[in-house]
Amino acid sequence: MSGFFGVASKSDCVSDLFYGTDYHSHLGTKRGGMCMLNSAGYTRFIHNIENSQFRSKFEDDISKMHGTRGIGIISDYEDQPLIIRSHLGIYSIVTVGVTQNADELAKEAFGKRSIHFSEMTGGQINPTELTAALISQEASFADGIAHAQDAIEGSCSILLLTEEGIYAARDKLGRTPVVTGRKDGACAVTLETCAFPNLGYQIERYLGPGEIVKLTAETIEQLRPGRRKMQICAFLWVYYGFPASCYEQINVEAVRYRCGAALAANDDLEVDLVAGIPDSGTAHAIGYADAAAVPYHRPFVKYTPTWPRSFMPQDQETRDLVGRMKLIPIREIIKGKRLLFCEDSIVRGTQLRGTIQRLYDFGAREVHMRPACPPLVYNCKFLNFSRSRSQLDLAARRAIEQIEGQTDVDLAQYADPDSKKHRAMVENIRKALNLTTLRYQKLADLVAAIGLPKEKLCTYCWDGACPQ
Ligand code: SF4
Repeated sequence: MSGFFGVASKSDCVSDLFYGTDYHSHLGTKRGGMCMLNSAGYTRFIHNIENSQFRSKFEDDISKMHGTRGIGIISDYEDQPLIIRSHLGIYSIVTVGVTQNADELAKEAFGKRSIHFSEMTGGQINPTELTAALISQEASFADGIAHAQDAIEGSCSILLLTEEGIYAARDKLGRTPVVTGRKDGACAVTLETCAFPNLGYQIERYLGPGEIVKLTAETIEQLRPGRRKMQICAFLWVYYGFPASCYEQINVEAVRYRCGAALAANDDLEVDLVAGIPDSGTAHAIGYADAAAVPYHRPFVKYTPTWPRSFMPQDQETRDLVGRMKLIPIREIIKGKRLLFCEDSIVRGTQLRGTIQRLYDFGAREVHMRPACPPLVYNCKFLNFSRSRSQLDLAARRAIEQIEGQTDVDLAQYADPDSKKHRAMVENIRKALNLTTLRYQKLADLVAAIGLPKEKLCTYCWDGACPQ
C-alpha cells in the first residue's frame, strides 16, 4: 500500500509537508517523494527508502525546498511524484491504489499514437504516469480525474499539485480513506489522520468514495460529490493503519481492542498470559487481555532503536532475518508458561513459525494463537498489499493445496468458517506453525468490531466478496 499528504498554505509549508508525508512511512517501503510549488515552479525529490527511512533520506532536501503548496508520497511501488506537462498546464501527481487494467488502458492510449510511457525496471508502466495520461485527456482537472477513476479497474486515490490549488480525489469505491484538515492559514489532505494532530490540523471532512475537492490555503471546494456505495478496506483497521488514525471517524486502536475482546468472548482457554507479536498484534492482545481478565505481558520486546519498520527489506530471506533480529525473547517471562498470542493476521506464516519455535526454545509450555481476522484466502486486488506475492504465498492457500493436492479449487467452501473444509484448513495451518491451538476471528465479529455495515467494507481477502 502507499500513503500521501498534501498541504496548501499562506506561508512556507515544507515542514508540514515533510512531517505529514513521514507519518505515512508505515504504509510503503519502496520510494518516498515530495514536490513543492512556488513562483519559480516545481521542485521535486524522490528517494529509494528500501534501506533507510524517509526522514533521513529527505533531511538534506528540505533546505532546497520552498513554497506554499506541496504534495508528498510514501510509495510501495513506483517512483512518485511525477511532474507532467500537458494541455491543462504543468502539474504534479501522486496516486495510491492498484490499476489492474494498466495494459489495456495503455493499449487504448497507444491507439492515439501520440502517446508513450516510460518503462519501469521489470517491464511495467508506471501506474501514476498512466493515471496522468488519462487525466490529461479531458478538458479540466476535475473531469480528467473523474475520467481516470472511471477507467481504472482496481482503486486509485489521487493528489494533483497545480497552479490553481491541490486537487484531492478518493478512489471510486473508497477503498482508501482521504481526509481534509484545516488550521489557521492552511488546508491539508491526508490518507492517515494521525498526520494531523502534531501539525496543528483539525479534521475537516472524510471524503466520500469518488469525491473530488480542490484545496487552497483558505478553501476546500467540492468539485464532485461522494458516492453512496463504499468498499473501504477492512484490513486498514486490522493491520495497515496507524493506531492513532481514524477512517470513517472510527479509530484504529479502539477497533483493535474490540477485535481482541471478540476473540476473548469466543474462547474458554486457561492461559498464564496474553501477548501480542509487536507491533501490530499488541492492541488486539490488550483488548483480549482486558476482556478475559488475563495479564498482558511482553514475552518478546522489539529492539526499536535500529529496527523501527516492519516490512523492509523486500527479499524474503533478509526480511526473515530482520524479523528474527528485532524481536528479543525474555526467558523469564516465557519459561514454563501457557502463552496466548494475538496477531493482526497470518499472511505467509513463514516468519511466524520461526517466532513460535523460539518460544518453545525459551521454555514455553503451550503457545496459542488468535489472529484478529479470518484466514486470508484471496490475494488483494485493490491495494499494493500483495503485489509481489503469488496466491500460494498465503498460508491458507498453501494449506488448501496440501489438502486438495491441486490449486484449482472452489475457495468459497474454505472461506466459510462453519464448513469442514475450513476447519481442515485451520488445522493444517496450526500443525504447520506448531501451535497448541489456533482460532481465527470470525468475519462477522471483525465487521462488528469495526462498526460499519458489512456492505460498506471490502472483505474480499477473507470471503472473496467483490460487489462493484
Ligand atoms: S482485498 Fe483485503 S487488503 Fe485488499 S482492499 Fe479488500 S480488505 Fe483491503
